[in-house]
Amino acid sequence: MAKLYFHYATMNAGKTTMLLQASYNYRERGMSTMLFVAGHYRKASHYHKDGAGYIASRIGLEADAEMFSDGDDLFARVAEHHRHTTTHCVFVDEAQFLAEEQVWQLARIADRLDIPVMCYGLRTDFQGKLFTGSRALLAIADELREVRTICRCGRKATMVVRLGPDGKVAKKGEQVAIGKDVYVSLCRRHWEEEMGRWRAEDLIGFAGAE
Ligand SMILES: [Zn+2]
Repeated sequence: MAKLYFHYATMNAGKTTMLLQASYNYRERGMSTMLFVAGHYRKASHYHKDGAGYIASRIGLEADAEMFSDGDDLFARVAEHHRHTTTHCVFVDEAQFLAEEQVWQLARIADRLDIPVMCYGLRTDFQGKLFTGSRALLAIADELREVRTICRCGRKATMVVRLGPDGKVAKKGEQVAIGKDVYVSLCRRHWEEEMGRWRAEDLIGFAGAE
């Protein structure tokens, strides 16, 4: 039976590159894939000039993709497409933005259409809280796969901080800010120091160093 997969990581771990590479591997073998990306935040990097969606990775790979928004029925969209074009795998980028019900729709794509679904996304936001889509995926996905990246200290990075335009670590604010903000992946130990939740012991510090 097909499975629902969740590949999770922090920022800049290469998730999108992995997604595009995996989709390419299917297509190279003559199989058909469907790619979805969250349309919520209308990132310029996800739109062609004509408004169609695409996914691009930092190392230059890209592929056309369908947008999803809250309220979209992903099961219905895939089932409809699958009726005229046999689909071998479904990929979802920025899966942290899925609604809980959409994660169930993806599970049904695996269970009832027998098409594997590969989701890629962030586990937690800059405040260390689960995203809605990630919470649902962690709860019901068949396979959880951690995409590893490292903190500047060499430990595994599991957390992310957001640096505002002033270069300082954001302690609160909206879960997603699009703009000049920069995200940095850190281990939990350094994340707590950067967030001011523990005294700075070996802070390398791009942030609160006043
Ligand atoms: Zn560290």
